[in-house]
Amino acid sequence: MTTAAPRLLTPGPLTTSLRTRQAMLEDWGSWDARFNQLTASVCARLLAILNGADSHHCIPLQGSGTFAVEAAIGTLVPRDGKVLVLINGAYGKRLAKICAVLGRTFSTFETAEDAPTTAADVDRLLHADSRISHVALVHCETSTGILNPLAEIAQVVERHGRRLIIDAMSSFGALPIDAREIPFDALIAASGKCLEGVPGMGFVFAQKAALAAAQGNSHSLAMDLFDQHSYMASTGQWRFTPPTHVVAALHEALLQFDEEGGLPARHRRYASNCQALLDGMAALGLRSFLPAAIQAPIIVTFHAPQDPRYRFQDFYERVKARGFILYPGKLTQVETFRVGCIGHVDATDMRAAVTAIGEALLHHTSIHRT
Ligand SMILES: *Cc1c(COP(=O)(O)O)cnc(C)c1O
Repeated sequence: MTTAAPRLLTPGPLTTSLRTRQAMLEDWGSWDARFNQLTASVCARLLAILNGADSHHCIPLQGSGTFAVEAAIGTLVPRDGKVLVLINGAYGKRLAKICAVLGRTFSTFETAEDAPTTAADVDRLLHADSRISHVALVHCETSTGILNPLAEIAQVVERHGRRLIIDAMSSFGALPIDAREIPFDALIAASGKCLEGVPGMGFVFAQKAALAAAQGNSHSLAMDLFDQHSYMASTGQWRFTPPTHVVAALHEALLQFDEEGGLPARHRRYASNCQALLDGMAALGLRSFLPAAIQAPIIVTFHAPQDPRYRFQDFYERVKARGFILYPGKLTQVETFRVGCIGHVDATDMRAAVTAIGEALLHHTSIHRT
């Protein structure tokens, strides 16, 4: 048992460093030049992670990641556009729901939760429907942890002359994405995922010409990225009250991102977290839902123990009492739970989490007696 705050093994909010949390101890004035510099520095650093400074604008937006996804679709898809939404989990379904709520015409293509969308699927679907103007894809589908083949799909969309919108919320900063090689109109991520900031702001990398052509598309004042960008470009300020502490924390988190060695180092640490987790859980007899080839090193879905007495809530409380917060499963067909590999944690933490999970199950299920 531990009295310290438990570590979050969840895909955002997640465990942050003390230094990142300490960056929130100062109050910032939203008109102050120092705060404007902080925002500009955050945007420049974010663009540098994907080599996007020449081709894309970085537009920050108040709110959780979904706010930024909704703003991107509402701003960049014209009202007479049509979106093809690629689905293999809950976040793909959310993209379709956003299109429905915003009144954008859309069609969906859904594969099983353990089957990535393929470039061949997208090629066939675009051949069949010339009305489709935009394709919306989730890079790492956080509801399982499955990785979709972004580079291949982006090439097909480009070849057909259509536009790509990428929900890279749970992959940006950890999995390589290079804007010089992968064509897209919008890529969306947020402060509180692989960058290890605190939650509270999303950001959209919008292709410059696409954004310039997007004036008047948005259904909403607050979610209009064209306006948000124009105002920030001319004043250096956020249009409406900025999440000042979130920006300060993200800036500090980005300094640490660079100190760690940037994206390659972040990717290595998460991959090593994921491997330590998979090895440890396999030794406990717990099976992961996805095959290794399509498992992103972001979050792992595990089958629940085969024991009639297993209840996620009890299990969660026992693991929490041992210092770790797990995440419930999000699959409809099978009983699962999830463990995040991201955040300010390393392989030693993951092994300690596996020990906690083993202890939590020991007295309550039969897995150690088989
Ligand atoms: C976290 C996440 C989002 C955003 O969810 P919020 O609850 O709004 O933070 C969107 N897409 C994916 C793939 C995510 O992992």
